[in-house]
Amino acid sequence: MLNRRIAEILRSSQPDESLLVQGWVRTKRELKGFAFIEINDGSSLANLQVVINEDVPDYETTIKNLNTGAAVEVAGVLVASQGKGQRIELKAEKLKVYGEADPETYPLQKKRHSFEFLRTIGHLRSRTNSFGAVFRVRNACSAAIHQFFQERGFLWVHTPIITASDCEGAGELFSVTSLDLKNIPRTDNQAIDYSQDFFGKPTYLTVSGQLEAEVMAMAFGNVYTFGPTFRAENSNTSRHLAEFWMVEPEMAFCNLEEDMDLAEAFLKYIFEYVLVKCPEDMEFFNQRIDNSVLATAENIINNQFERLTYTDAIKLLEKADVKFDYPVSWGLDLQSEHERYLAEQLFKKPVIVTDYPAQIKAFYMRLSDDEKTVRAMDILAPKIGEIIGGSQREERLDVLERRVISQGMKPEDLWWYLDLRRYGTVPHAGFGLGFERLVQFMTGMGNIRDVIPFPRTPQNAEF
Ligand code: ATP
Ligand code: MN
Repeated sequence: MLNRRIAEILRSSQPDESLLVQGWVRTKRELKGFAFIEINDGSSLANLQVVINEDVPDYETTIKNLNTGAAVEVAGVLVASQGKGQRIELKAEKLKVYGEADPETYPLQKKRHSFEFLRTIGHLRSRTNSFGAVFRVRNACSAAIHQFFQERGFLWVHTPIITASDCEGAGELFSVTSLDLKNIPRTDNQAIDYSQDFFGKPTYLTVSGQLEAEVMAMAFGNVYTFGPTFRAENSNTSRHLAEFWMVEPEMAFCNLEEDMDLAEAFLKYIFEYVLVKCPEDMEFFNQRIDNSVLATAENIINNQFERLTYTDAIKLLEKADVKFDYPVSWGLDLQSEHERYLAEQLFKKPVIVTDYPAQIKAFYMRLSDDEKTVRAMDILAPKIGEIIGGSQREERLDVLERRVISQGMKPEDLWWYLDLRRYGTVPHAGFGLGFERLVQFMTGMGNIRDVIPFPRTPQNAEF
């Protein structure tokens, strides 16, 4: 007997094969003398239909216990299906019910539930069609990311989750401490005495692996991180999580143009990969969630991304015949409405905006000769806005030191980062992709809480 996954059985198995299938019951239909159940094992959107004749052992009790949500194992033979909707079905010879699910209390009955409701049963929602599709596509995106970089010889490096550098995203950091919060040690002037804390100084959950990725790029050339990052931002939006995953490649001997080329090839690769690996799930999103999902994917794969400078983008926004809520002028950051106007309305495809004003970007971005702009790039996508942010990094020690100081940071706190410019410095560049934003974009799911299995948001860390 073969124990195979339902996705594979539906794709390639033939009548007369003997099989053992394990999964969870989605529906049951009882008729005179026999019953149908649909089983799902998470491997595909489609269920396997099982026909159970009353001559199987213990028919009555088995059928009574085979309710939606029950875990079951079926041994049987595949037969060509008489009914519409499936090519083959399994004729049961032996059934074993592992865990029953009481139809009076099991929350996932066969009807449409809202995503809000499903968030309250985060431990069960993965058993629905929508979340099955989301998490299979999420898996395919992860696999595509690794495959893309591995094919190109990038080293996957694990950067730390606990960090002592608070230089990025100040104010949005989660503190990590083993101090007794009921009895915090104080110094003479009543400040918290971090010398008694676990690491002997303040530490945080990381907001980005970039600085450490730069260290590794200076030894291995091309590297990437793909791991969790954390932001204590109290923004209850459909695009922000407190814990999310980020992909950050970093390349030595690389300028901004090459960085953009890689980012564009990267996005195209992931979309193509997912369309090939998860066609059913993508079709499902297109039908049920957002009917532009497939067209958007084709758009990304088939079009060259538009590239323009921030200065030109501002000119276009000033000329736009729409009214924005936020002001547009050179020196102000682009808001989501501006980004969406450029990508969705004006160019109708992804847009890469480059060369932002230095004041609104991070200290590590390379200062251009005009001394006003930095070699930054953001990729703006229709529907989502910013999906990738990257830059060429400042490789000149004196310029970097100046920028660190002018942004109110202490060079000595970043001594090791500055050392990279002291010893064997080289032009280098990289970018960051918010992984859940990508999955949102791919699936058309409106809320970022619904593209990660266990969302962490303000006031919510259940499951
Ligand atoms: P936003 O303006 O949307 O808050 P950001 O400018 O804070 O984004 P970066 O600091 O550039 O974002 O972070 C890199 C990427 O991580 C972003 O492009 C985005 O895709 C993603 N990202 C940022 N914050 C979050 C969050 N709270 N939850 C999920 N993804 C996020
Ligand atoms: Mn932010």
